[in-house]
Amino acid sequence: MLSKRLSRIEESATIRMAHIAKQLQDNGKGILNFSLGEPDFKTPEHICEAAKQALDIGYTHYTSSAGVDELREEIAKKIHKENKLDITMENVIVTPGAKQAIYELMMSVLDEGDEVILLDPAWVSFEQAVKLAGGSPKWVKRVEEAVKYESLEAAVSDNTKMLILNSPNNPGGYVLSEREQREIADFAIEHDLIVLSDEIYEKILYGRKHVSIASFDGMQERTAVINGFSKEYAMTGWRIGYAVAPTEITKGMLKIQQHSVTCAPSISQFAALAGLRSSQNCVQEMVSEFKKRRDVIVKRLNDMGLQCVNPEGAFYAFINTSGHGGDVEFTERLLKEAYIVVTPGSAFGLAGKNYVRLSFAASMESILEGMDRIEKLVSYLR
Ligand code: GLU
Repeated sequence: MLSKRLSRIEESATIRMAHIAKQLQDNGKGILNFSLGEPDFKTPEHICEAAKQALDIGYTHYTSSAGVDELREEIAKKIHKENKLDITMENVIVTPGAKQAIYELMMSVLDEGDEVILLDPAWVSFEQAVKLAGGSPKWVKRVEEAVKYESLEAAVSDNTKMLILNSPNNPGGYVLSEREQREIADFAIEHDLIVLSDEIYEKILYGRKHVSIASFDGMQERTAVINGFSKEYAMTGWRIGYAVAPTEITKGMLKIQQHSVTCAPSISQFAALAGLRSSQNCVQEMVSEFKKRRDVIVKRLNDMGLQCVNPEGAFYAFINTSGHGGDVEFTERLLKEAYIVVTPGSAFGLAGKNYVRLSFAASMESILEGMDRIEKLVSYLR
C-alpha cells in the first residue's frame, strides 16, 4: 500500500528509543530515560500565563498562515539584533515546530535527484527529510574534528543543491568556530549552495558564542535559518518553530504550509511571543543547570574510562563506546542490564557507529543514578 518514497524512509530513532523507555516505565521498570532531547523543566510561568490569556481573549482560531504579525515582527527583531541579519517579517515563517520548517524548506527547494551535503553525524530527521523531498544525502565526516575543505570538495557535484549545518550540534555537542563556518560559507558560495542552518540550540551554550553563518558576507541570500522555542523555553509540546530565509523561499514554504497545516497553533504563538518579549533569565537558569549536569557527566564518564568530548553546546553527551562493543550492542546492554535508555550513534550516520548519545535534558538525580549504573556495567565489561 505504501509509496516508493516512503520505503526510503526510516522511523525516527530518537522517538523510537523514547517510546521504548515509556513502555518500560509504564510496566513499572525503574528506567532512566536519556533518549530524547526534551528539557525536563516546566515551561516558564509567564509563558503559560500568556497562553491562558490568549485562551481567555479567544485567540483560538486560525491565524494568518505565516504566523501572527506581532510574532513574526518580534522574531525579525531578535534575528536582526542577535544574529545580525538584515531582515523583515516577510523573511519569517512561523511553523508548528522546527521540524515542519525543515520539511517545508526541503519540499520548497529540492527536486528529485538533488544532492544535499550533511555533516556526519547529523540529527536523525535531516536525512529522512531530504529523502522524502526526493533528494539524496551526501555525507561528510565531522566527528571530534573540524570539517575538511577537501572532504566537502569530494562530496560536491553538479547536482548538489544544499548543505545542512547544525551548530550547536545534536548529537556531537560541538559549536562550529567562526573560522570553520567561514570556510564552509566560502564553499557554499563557490558552489552556489543553499545552506540550511539549524540553530535551535543557539542559547544552550557553555562558554561559547553563537554566530549564525547567515551573517557572513554573501550568505544571507542563500541561507535558511531554522529555529524554535522547544529547547530554550522548554516548550516541546507547544509545537512552535520558525524559519528565516530569503522571501522567495519563505513564500514557497508558505504554499506548503497553507496546503498542509494551515498555521502554527494560535495559542502557542502568543506564548512564544511572551517568551521573546520577556526577561531571558529563565533561559539562563536552565542553561546553568544543563552546564552542571554536563560537568558531572563528562567527569564521571571519563573517570570510568569512557571517552566523551566535552559538549560546548546543546544537551547531549556523545560517548565513544570503542572497547565496549559497538553502539547498538552497548545500547542494548545499557537497556537490558542497567535499565538505561540512550540512542545508538549509528542512528545519526556512519560516523556515529561507535558512539551512543546520552541526552542530559534529564534531572540531576537521574543523571547521578545513571552514572552509577553505567560505571557498574563498564567495570563488569572490563
Ligand atoms: N530533537 C530531539 C532529539 O534529537 C527531539 C526528538 C527529535 O525530534 O528527534 O532527541
